[in-house]
Amino acid sequence: MMEMKRPALPLTGECPCEAVRFEVSAMPLLIYACHCTECQRWSGRAFSMSMPVASKSFRVVRGEPKPWRRIGASGVQSTYWFCGDCGGRVYGERDARPDIRAVRAGTLDDTSWLRPVAHVYMRSAQPWEQLAGRGTLRDHAEGFLDARRQVAADVAGVMKRSSVAESLEKSSQPAYVAVSV
Ligand SMILES: [Zn+2]
Ligand SMILES: [Zn+2]
Repeated sequence: MMEMKRPALPLTGECPCEAVRFEVSAMPLLIYACHCTECQRWSGRAFSMSMPVASKSFRVVRGEPKPWRRIGASGVQSTYWFCGDCGGRVYGERDARPDIRAVRAGTLDDTSWLRPVAHVYMRSAQPWEQLAGRGTLRDHAEGFLDARRQVAADVAGVMKRSSVAESLEKSSQPAYVAVSV
């Protein structure tokens, strides 16, 4: 089983140019890797790491991120907050779930403990990506709060709906959702 180190609270992080800085006072609800084409385009990478946290545990402590409103890959209206200076994306939130904010996990000061417990939109994942030799996804879930189950179920629900919303966008249709429940 992959070791899951518990990070010290509060979690802290910032955008690349350091103009926007934030704190999270409670353990995240979930950490998952999203392989959808939108995340690939925005990040310029193979996938993005999303870390939903309780909104009440999250606060911006420096700078004022700017909002970008749009229908996300999950098919629901969302607001993505980014740094107006460097363009770095910091976190996002869905209109329907104001109690949760999805922090871009790569913005954390300490990323050494991050382990995704779920991989979504695997159909558009790069073909060379694999979890071989790293154990099962369930192994990665050890050490997290029970609250993750609720959010994992929420992610699964959103993905289920999105398979309809994105039926015309074959490249990012979710092939399956691997959640730790
Ligand atoms: Zn910045
Ligand atoms: Zn995505």
